[in-house]
Amino acid sequence: MEKEVAPIMAKYWEKAEFPFQIIPKLGALHVAGGTIKGYGCPGLSVTGTAVATAELARVDASCSTFILVHSSLAMLTIALCGSEEQKHKYLPSLAQLKTVACWALTEPNYGSDASALETKATKVDGGWILEGQKRWIGNSTFADVLVIFARNTSTNQINGFIVKKDSPGLTVTKMLNKIGLRIVQNGDIVMKKVFVPDGDRLPGVNSFQDTNKVLAVSRVMVAWQPIGISMGVYDMCHRYLKERRQFGAPLAAFQINQQKLVQMLGNIQAMFLVGWRLCKLYESGRMTVGHASLGKSWITVKARDTVALGRELLGGNGILADFLVAKAFCDLEPIYTYEGTYDINTLVTGREVTGIASFKPAGRSRL
Ligand SMILES: Cc1cc2nc3c(=O)[nH]c(=O)nc-3n(C[C@H](O)[C@H](O)[C@H](O)COP(=O)(O)OP(=O)(O)OC[C@H]3O[C@@H](n4cnc5c(N)ncnc54)[C@H](O)[C@@H]3O)c2cc1C
Repeated sequence: MEKEVAPIMAKYWEKAEFPFQIIPKLGALHVAGGTIKGYGCPGLSVTGTAVATAELARVDASCSTFILVHSSLAMLTIALCGSEEQKHKYLPSLAQLKTVACWALTEPNYGSDASALETKATKVDGGWILEGQKRWIGNSTFADVLVIFARNTSTNQINGFIVKKDSPGLTVTKMLNKIGLRIVQNGDIVMKKVFVPDGDRLPGVNSFQDTNKVLAVSRVMVAWQPIGISMGVYDMCHRYLKERRQFGAPLAAFQINQQKLVQMLGNIQAMFLVGWRLCKLYESGRMTVGHASLGKSWITVKARDTVALGRELLGGNGILADFLVAKAFCDLEPIYTYEGTYDINTLVTGREVTGIASFKPAGRSRL
């Protein structure tokens, strides 16, 4: 990552383009597929996959999001909810990054409230017709395989489908003007009478609850992205403070700068330990949905404080993407919001500890 990716990412970030030449190199890292065993996948532990996610994010957050969407969302959905035939057909080439996947849940009118999604799946002879829209879908502008969630018009439940690139009726438009993760290609998807054969319906997705087994793992992985981003920012600041001089001394000689650096280090240690604990809880079969949500929300908010300190430490250069700290500062913002915003993850944990769900506004008071 440091040799091949770091030198080129600021340029691609600025242009908001994806550097396709790095895909085979990322494939060679053999981390795509993470925890999945068999089908050519690495079969890493949850902790191993999490540390790999953080190390990618330490150098470039967009790169780690590209892998996360492909691996911890799309591939994992196929592995956990697909048929044996689907796993054999799709996972080996996805594991080598010879093909790329995306995962489409969010819609223009349903973000936090994703379980109310409106894309329709209607049964027809030999398959299904998908109609609707998706928004924000990472990798979708060039993905070969699109995992798409839609509402079955006869059961009213959520089902999952594998849709191929270039299917008639499918159009994907790149979203422009993002202020973070600019290398990730997010797309608006429109489906007009897209036919999906029976063999490409995921048999294990029969309700929205079925997405939870995927989200349980992916939320742990997302929690490790801010850890990696913060470690990368700390690395840069540590080096910069020793190199740049003001008032006849290195910036590292000033007590206020040391205090900020140490505060960052303390935050990173705490974030790392919460992330580690989440992995160990998962691996021992004890992690709850509330644990994962608490981990994702708390780590992300700590990372916000950490990268803000890093941005300050670089002065004016903390505003330039070239020095990577400003880029990391911006890249953290979408991570604060995706895979459940800070607020939604807080409410998930709140529901678990109180037994009371507070996602929907309370009814009108009689007072
Ligand atoms: C860069 C990026 C990449 C993404 N990639 C993908 C992807 O690959 N696949 C995919 O399916 N989706 C993806 N998303 C979508 C992402 O998951 C949603 O943006 C997210 O769930 C929030 O939904 P929203 O943007 O519609 O915000 P909204 O739901 O409109 O929320 C707006 C604000 O209101 C708050 N809010 C909403 N409901 C409540 C409530 N009940 N109580 C308290 N506060 C509330 C939120 O916390 C937030 O602050 C991506 C998003 C981004 C930014």
